[in-house]
Amino acid sequence: MEFKGKTAVITGSNSGIGPGVARALAAAGADVVLNSFTDSDEDHRLARDIAAEFGITARYVRADMADPGDCRALIETAGACDILVNNAGIQHVAPVPEFPVEKWNAIIAINLSSAFHTTAAALPMMRKAGWGRVINIASAHGLRASPFKAAYVAAKHGVVGLSKVVALETAREPITCNAICPGYVRTPLIDAQIPDTAREYGISEDEAVEKVILLKQPSKEFLTIEQVAGIAMFLCSEAAVQITGTTIAADGGWSAQ
Ligand code: NAD
Repeated sequence: MEFKGKTAVITGSNSGIGPGVARALAAAGADVVLNSFTDSDEDHRLARDIAAEFGITARYVRADMADPGDCRALIETAGACDILVNNAGIQHVAPVPEFPVEKWNAIIAINLSSAFHTTAAALPMMRKAGWGRVINIASAHGLRASPFKAAYVAAKHGVVGLSKVVALETAREPITCNAICPGYVRTPLIDAQIPDTAREYGISEDEAVEKVILLKQPSKEFLTIEQVAGIAMFLCSEAAVQITGTTIAADGGWSAQ
C-alpha cells in the first residue's frame, strides 16, 4: 500500500491505539496529523519521531474533541484530509441514576459528536481530492451493551449509526466510511488495570485477565494495537473499496454471543 501524498488525521492520537494507527499509515507513506487536547513537548516530540522514522510529514495539532469548533478547526488546520480516523475516546463507569451529567455530556461529545464534526469538515476535502476514507474506532460496545457504561455504549452505538449514514451519503463516490469495533485492546491503560484488578479480587494477574477483564471476550486474548491498525489499513486498501457502512468486529468472538 502506498499513501504518499495523502494526509491522514487521527483524533486522540497521543496515546494507545491512535499513535499505532498513525505509525501504520506513516509507514505506508501518508503524512499524518496527530491530535489531543494537550499541547506538551512530548506531544510534539511524538510527531517529530514519527516523521523522522518514516520520512513523512507529521504534525501535532492541539484540539479538544469535546469542542465542535476545535473539531472543525483540526481538519481546517490539517489543510487536507484524505484519511480521517475518529479515535478520541474516554470512559466513565456508573449506574444510570448516579451517572454524572457532565460525564455523560463529555462522553457523548468526545466519543460521538466529534466524529460528526470532523467528518462534516473532512468530506468536502475528500470530495475535492476524489478519494477518502473515514474510519471510526467504535468498540464491541457499539454492538453489545454492558451495565454501568450508559454513555459509552450509547456513544459507540451512535458512531456505528453515523458511519452508516455517511456511507450512504457517499455511496456513489470513491469515499468509504466504516466502524472498527474492537474488544479489549492491550494498551497502557489496560496494563495498569491488571495488578489493581488482581489485588481487588484477591486473585492472580492471569486470573484477573481471564475471569474479570476478558470475561466477555471468548478468545481470552487481548487485541494488540497493531491488529487494530492493520484493520484500519485494510479499510484503506483497494480490497476494501466496496466495504462501506459496516462494522468490523475484532473482539475474539464477543459479538458472536
Ligand atoms: P487512550 O486513553 O490511550 O486513548 C484515547 C485518546 O483520546 C488519547 O490520545 C487521549 O488524549 C484522547 N482524548 C481524550 N479526550 C480527548 C479530547 N477531549 N480531545 C482530544 N483527544 C482526546 O485509549 P485507547 O484504548 O487508545 O482508545 C482509543 C479509542 O479506542 C477510543 O475511542 C476507545 O473507546 C476505543 N476502544 C478502546 C478499546 C480498548 O480496549 N483499549 C476497545 C475498544 C475501543
